[in-house]
Amino acid sequence: MIKITKTIEWEMGHRIPNHIGKCKNPHGHHYKLELTLSGPIGSNKGSSSEGMIIDFGDISKLLSAAIYDTLDHSFMICEDDKIMSAFFKKQENFKAVIVPFIPTVENISQWCYNQIFPRIPENVVIENLRVYETPNSWADFTPRQVTYADTKKTNQHK
Ligand SMILES: [Zn+2]
Repeated sequence: MIKITKTIEWEMGHRIPNHIGKCKNPHGHHYKLELTLSGPIGSNKGSSSEGMIIDFGDISKLLSAAIYDTLDHSFMICEDDKIMSAFFKKQENFKAVIVPFIPTVENISQWCYNQIFPRIPENVVIENLRVYETPNSWADFTPRQVTYADTKKTNQHK
């Protein structure tokens, strides 16, 4: 089986409001996401994507729109974090991303998956999504092996 991986990196602030140690302080990370995909290899003779699962350029556009444009140089805040919410409410020009979870790398990886999944072509499968918070700390989100097409079918039967 052949898998392909594309990476994207961004800068983002966060804090872990209930943390007993230094992570409760507002601080930032250089995040890196690795998206690993599989799927049938294009066999249309003469097509631009012949021999590819998906064009790397298309994944790049997708990751920019789904992740980079929203998160780069933003501050991710848990909606229950009263201190940071109050601060960012007063600073309307600052880029804040309010989320319903504590912004740990585990939760961020799942959030990223939810942004990316609807934009992936129907015949392409997300094998793994890894988000690095530091070069030696990361989380893997490994979805069950369903395609977007399967999900749409399931939803139609409800
Ligand atoms: Zn941190």
